[in-house]
Parts: sequence; C-alpha cells; structure tokens
Amino acid sequence: MSTIKLHDKYFEPYISKEKIDLIVQSLANQIAEDCKDEVPIFIGILNGSFMFVADFIRKYPRACEVTFVKLTSYQGVNSTGLVTQLFGINEDLTGRTVVILEDIIDTGNTLQKIYKIFKDKNIKSLKIATLFFKPDVFKKELHIDFIGLSIPDEFIVGYGLDYDNLGRNIDSIYKITTPKMTNIVLFGPPGAGKGTQADLLKVKYDLVHISTGDVFRYNIKNETELGLLAKSYMDSGNLVPDEVTINMLKSEVEKNKDAKGFIFDGFPRTTSQAEALDVFLAEKGETINGMIALEVSEDLLVERLLERGKTSGRSDDQDEGKIRNRFNEYDTKTAILKDFYAKQNKYFGANGVGSIEEITGRLSKIIDTL
Ligand code: AMP
Repeated sequence: MSTIKLHDKYFEPYISKEKIDLIVQSLANQIAEDCKDEVPIFIGILNGSFMFVADFIRKYPRACEVTFVKLTSYQGVNSTGLVTQLFGINEDLTGRTVVILEDIIDTGNTLQKIYKIFKDKNIKSLKIATLFFKPDVFKKELHIDFIGLSIPDEFIVGYGLDYDNLGRNIDSIYKITTPKMTNIVLFGPPGAGKGTQADLLKVKYDLVHISTGDVFRYNIKNETELGLLAKSYMDSGNLVPDEVTINMLKSEVEKNKDAKGFIFDGFPRTTSQAEALDVFLAEKGETINGMIALEVSEDLLVERLLERGKTSGRSDDQDEGKIRNRFNEYDTKTAILKDFYAKQNKYFGANGVGSIEEITGRLSKIIDTL
C-alpha cells in the first residue's frame, strides 16, 4: 500500500481493514452486552457511517433494527441561525432503546445536535457509539457511551469517510500527509547552465542533484549495461528511450532515501517522463514544487557549447550538427513541458544570461517562494 491522492491532497495508510474489523467486532460485543434482551434500534448517521453500520450489524449477535438518518441544516424562517433537522426517520421511537452509530466524533457539534433532536422523542434510552473519536478536539460535555478507537487530530478518509466526497469506498483508513521535500525541476536547453547552477543550489538548499546526463555519462565511462544502451543515442544527440531513463531516475531517487529534496536536471525531458515523475513522487506523498527554467537565446547557447566542447571531452558538445540536433530534440519534445508545469502553476522562468552569481540569485529568489 502506498500514498494516494484525492483531489489536491495526499493520504497515507493509517488503520488497516483488519484492525477496523477487530474494533467493530468489539463494539458489537460491548453494545450487545449492554442492551441485553432489548431489541435496540441502531441509527446510522449518513453519509459517513454507512460502511461502519453495514459491518457492525453483521457482527451484532442478537436481534436488532437498523435505520439511517441524515442531518441537514436549513435557514430558519424567523431566525438568522441555521436550524438542524433530521431527515429520514419514520419509525416511532417511543419507548425504544436507540443507539446512534457515528463514524467519527471530533468537535462534538453533530453530537450536540443529535442529543437535542432525540431529547423530545420519548425514547427509553439514548446511547451513542462512535467508531473513531478525537479527544484532542472534542470540546463538549456530552457523554459518549461506546468508543471504537481514539485517534489524534488528523484528517482521515476511507471506510465511509470522505475528503470532498472522494475516498468513501476505500476499505481501510488513510490519513492526510503533507509533502516534506523540496523538489525542483531545473529546466532549460542544453548549455543553459543547469549543471553549474545545480551545483551551487544543492549546497545552498541541502538538496540532492540528479543530472540524468551525468548518470548516463558515468555509466558509459564504466561500460555498464545501461551505459552501453544509452551510448548510441547520446552520441548522436538523441534522447535515450523513456523507459530506460525513467527506471534509471527512480533508482537514483531511491538511493537517496533521506534526501530533503531533489534538483532534477535534464529530467523530465518528455511529457511521459513528467507524468511518470508525478506518479512516482505521489506514491511517496511528495510532489514537484516547481520547474525553474533558465532562458537563454539559442545562438548564445551554441557558442557556449562549442566552447565547453574544447575542454569537456563530450562528443555531443564538439559538433555543431549534434548540438543543433539536441536543440531540435529540446524544441520538439522538451519545450512542451513548460505547458505541463504552467498548467499546475509550477512554471517559473529566469533570465539565464549574466554572471553565475547573478543567476544563482535569480533562481534562489524563486526557490524561496516555493
Ligand atoms: P545532458 O547532459 O542533460 O545534456 O544530456 C546528455 C544526453 O543524455 C542527452 O542528449 C540524451 O541523449 C541523454 N539524456 C539525458 N537526460 C535524458 C532524459 N531525461 N531523457 C532522455 N535522454 C536523456
């Protein structure tokens, strides 16, 4: 099991279905013991309690009745406040033992309304049972008869509970998790200065720098299987196939389990790499904070690359044809990623012309806002 995403938020596994099963069984036993020979009427509070109630009554060892209600709020005619009414109760509750089944009680506001509504229904006794209870936020002096499990004040979903209507169908409980890393995609055409800047920024922000180009070059130098695979593509300035690159990237990230975040340099370079990266990070409850693009004109870049080729030993830096092909790859496959991140409001352009310090300053300003 790993992290899931519902709307814009991430959730991690919290309470397993096996544990829930034990809790529900224990509640059923306690309540049966308490009700003795009475035939109680169980009232589930919709929507959140439907799964709990369904499991609960299957485990209830004696005769019982079950019904569901919904609490709805409406604007009172003569008052400015909201009035809560009960929706769906047709049964005559006079003289009955009523057990309310709640999925979760946190502030106690709903519970208070329930007490108020059932007060004038002439019932024999009213008991409250809740699957989950948050003692840290419960502010009322109201009695709760049966508590399945007390939990800290964390937002949970699953087993009937939702986040904005999603997540009810999950058969266990997940809790919200917030990304802990700072993950940056450093973007820009070949020669824009990504490597130089990444070296400075990784120290400044304590991040791990992953340059896919460097990893490929390392593998080529050491004649690994990956290196042999990548060599022909790289030598001609073409992109290495996505599947190879994505797997390599994942293994580089996995090597740095304690990282505070990553600077991805040269990755993603295609939309499917960007999508794979999103899914991969989401499974860890993490995300890309932003793509920062170094903007430099192509002619200046060709000049820079040819200059670099004199000392870098990179064959793809020494031939203007290969350099132009890399730009072509960038323009046709990579530049569209600007839109991919812009759509998520995660694209930030930075002028890549100037001194190294000036450019680091511009990039830092952006990173500080992420
Ligand atoms: P770079 O050092 O980033 O300019 O990358 C040099 C070469 O490595 C590229 O021209 C590609 O052949 C290969 N490469 C690096 N990153 C990727 C990637 N994300 N996808 C495919 N090929 C890549």
